[in-house]
Formats: sequence, C-alpha cells, structure tokens
Amino acid sequence: MPAPSLPQRFRAFVVREGDGARSAGFEELPASALPEGELTVAVRYSSLNYKDALAVTGKGKVIRKFPMVPGIDLAGTVLESRDASFQPGDEVLVTGWGIGEATFGGYAGLARVRAAWALPLPRGLTARRAMAVGTAGFTAALCVDALEDAGVRPGGRPVIVTGAAGGVGSVAVALLARAGYEVAASTGRPSERAFLESLGATRIVPREELARPGTRPLESETWAGGVDAVGGAVLASVLRQTAYRGAVAACGLAGGTDLPVTVLPFVLRGVRLQGVDSVMAPAAPRARAWGRIARDLTADRIDALTTEIPLAEVPAWSERILAGQVRGRAVVAVA
Ligand code: NDP
Repeated sequence: MPAPSLPQRFRAFVVREGDGARSAGFEELPASALPEGELTVAVRYSSLNYKDALAVTGKGKVIRKFPMVPGIDLAGTVLESRDASFQPGDEVLVTGWGIGEATFGGYAGLARVRAAWALPLPRGLTARRAMAVGTAGFTAALCVDALEDAGVRPGGRPVIVTGAAGGVGSVAVALLARAGYEVAASTGRPSERAFLESLGATRIVPREELARPGTRPLESETWAGGVDAVGGAVLASVLRQTAYRGAVAACGLAGGTDLPVTVLPFVLRGVRLQGVDSVMAPAAPRARAWGRIARDLTADRIDALTTEIPLAEVPAWSERILAGQVRGRAVVAVA
C-alpha cells in the first residue's frame, strides 16, 4: 500500500516557555516546524511514561528546548525517508534518544527523527502494542537482561519488582514470570493484588515494608535479585535483603533519588547494583530487549496491562501517573 503524502499541517501538543511563563496545549503546526531528520513519520500511537508526565506538567525539568512536542515514544508509518534503511510505508518505532525532550516527540500527528533512532516494528507487534510496551516496558526488558547478565537464574530465590503496578513494574513482573523466575511484586496499592497475580507474581510485598528506614545494614537474604523503579528507601531495603552474589537493576526514581544504604551488601555479599538507562541504550541491547518483548509478551498479556487514552487526555493522565494512580501502561492514540 503506498504511503500517504506529507500533510502541510499537523496537530501537536506543544509546551512553550519564555519570560517566566509556561503554556501547554494543542496547536496546528506547519510541516516546516518539524526538526531535522531523515525520516518523517505519520504517528499513530505514543505512550505515557512517568517522564512524559513530568514534561507535560512541568513538574520535572525534562524538556531541554522550547517550544517542545513531548512524547518520548512513537510508532507509526514512514511517509518520507532520506535513508536507504527505510522506505515510505514502513512501520517503525522510536523510544528515547531525546525525542520529547530535546527534539519533537510522539504527541503529534507527524514526527521527524533520525533514521538511526528508528527500529522496524518487531515481528508480531502492532504499533499499538509496541507503544503499550513503550519506554517503560523496554526498560523493564533491559532490567531483566541485566539480571540475566549478572548470573541471576530462575529456580532459586524470588526476584522482587518494586513499583510493580506501574508501567516498568508490571512489564517486569510479566517478563520475569514468563522467563521462569518466581516473582515477588512490591506495591503500595493492595487493590492491585489480583492484577499482579494475573501477570505472574506469586507473592505481594506491601510497599510500606520496604519504605521504612532500615535498622540494620543487612537483613535476611530474601531475593536473588530485584528490578527497582522506585529508588530511595525502597531500593535501599531491596539491597539489604538481596542474597549473596545477587543483583539489582535500578532504573527509576518514583519514590526518590537518594539511596540510604551502606556498602555492606556490596562488600560482604558481593551484591551488584546495575544502573539501567533506556534513552541512549546502544543498538545491541536495544535489539535484545525488543527481542525478549516480542518473544515473551503475548498479545493477551500486553492488552491485560494496557489502557488506551486519546491524545487529548494526556494532560489529565499525566497528573494521575505522577500521583501513582495509573495501573500498568497507558498507550496514547494519536491518529
Ligand atoms: P509509573 O507511574 O507507571 O510507575 C511507578 C510506580 O512506582 C507506581 O505505579 C507506584 O507503584 C510506585 N510509586 C509511585 N510513587 C511512589 C512513591 N512515592 N513511593 C514508592 N513507590 C511509588 O511510572 P513508570 O513505570 O513509567 O516509571 C517508573 C520509574 O522508572 C520512574 O521513576 C521513571 O522515571 C523511571 N524510568 C526510567 C527509565 C530509564 O531509562 N532509566 C525509563 C522508564 C522509566 P505501586 O502503586 O505498585 O506501588
């Protein structure tokens, strides 16, 4: 099917800032407002991540240039390509690389991106499901890969996931369970027990058990490893409870950026703390993580953790995600 031609104008959610004033809302922009890049993409879906909510509300300094179209994820159809790797009509996805932060992102009908940032839609994933996974799910997959690389294997102690009912957490629970790990899900929302069990968690750990300050530098060796989307006191507790030669993949800060921990888990138990960044992840780990997603997340499983919202609802849902009220992932219908 031939790709449709490039429209003259497109609808976008635009954040502007200047002279101490900030505004955010929908605008019609000319195609000439698009940034540099080899690929022009008709965006069909984007997603709502914690970082998007910080950008949309202005509650975090995510945007590095104004005016900006937020949206750190996008999937859609190539309309124009100045790179031999892609042809008009190809379905692509882009996550990270600064889209929605330093160059226009996915909250618009059109996007222009570098060809090196785009991935062909992985086999078996639709644009909608790829965005239901989005940066949060991709990060969860990077975390699971990091645990595997650190030698954490199924069959031993459980792996704990913090912020489990959120985007990163819910995908991490599903991926770990699918890979055969026993999964403990830590959540501040007891009402999400059934949801987390449906994704494969076999144990629910109340958030307050981990959020309290520790009284001892080491606690019982409970976890083979962890995926942490929360940081702060919660990550510190996970480190104190991680077993000898275990590993924890830390990717988030939903509960804080500090880390009140001693070196004892590292020097007495050989525990490894692996930081995980999704934005600048190079091609090889990117391909591996999307491969895990395409292989291990069935359509049913993705749909079970997804809510679809229209682009117009992104501002309201941004407040909800920052308040820790969004279950799983929110996919944004753009077209
Ligand atoms: P979500 O809001 O979907 O999930 C965050 C979860 O953290 C919430 O659902 C909640 O889980 C828990 N939480 C929220 N507030 C608190 C709090 N004050 N104290 C303890 N726990 C809390 O966000 P995402 O999944 O999109 O992102 C999660 C984190 O990961 C964010 O900090 C985000 O910036 C980071 N991130 C980092 C990436 C990277 O490249 N390093 C990429 C993607 C995300 P529950 O209700 O189950 O307790």
